[in-house]
Amino acid sequence: MALIPDLDDEVPAMRLEGSCHCGAVRFSVESHEPVPFMRCYCSICRKTAGSGGFAVNLGADHATLQVHGREHLGVYRARMEDGRRSSGERHFCRECGTALWLYDPTWPDLVHPHAGAIDTALPGVPAVTHMMLGSKPAWVEAHVRPADKSFDAYPDESLAEWHRRHGQTR
Ligand SMILES: [Zn+2]
Ligand SMILES: [Zn+2]
Repeated sequence: MALIPDLDDEVPAMRLEGSCHCGAVRFSVESHEPVPFMRCYCSICRKTAGSGGFAVNLGADHATLQVHGREHLGVYRARMEDGRRSSGERHFCRECGTALWLYDPTWPDLVHPHAGAIDTALPGVPAVTHMMLGSKPAWVEAHVRPADKSFDAYPDESLAEWHRRHGQTR
């Protein structure tokens, strides 16, 4: 793992390298929240990034995102139940369909890479947070261990707060 000093808070970030399946898009980004603990069972994540029933979302620093093959990117802004479009921009490869990352201009400092698109070995997961279980269809089984947290909607702590609580500060 590459440890890069972060000038903002003087704790090292982890550099993540990622790619789509066909290789047309490659990216790198520095992450202070690289532990793949957050499983989202919402219908958007399930359909666009996780046929096992959920997507795993990481937190990273948008200003450090570097992309090769940007011309192959597509962006999906999810159509919500009321017909409006989500502000979240889900980036994917238009050649192979791989879900890559979520960026929302409402929080311009952040980007959320999908763990499945990351090629760097990610840290181990001491406890999983299961979110949006209220959107989970019956066939999807959430494997909740005693140390895990479960939420029908949004969790009670951010990606950064979870990392602090588990001593995974970067
Ligand atoms: Zn691709
Ligand atoms: Zn989701």
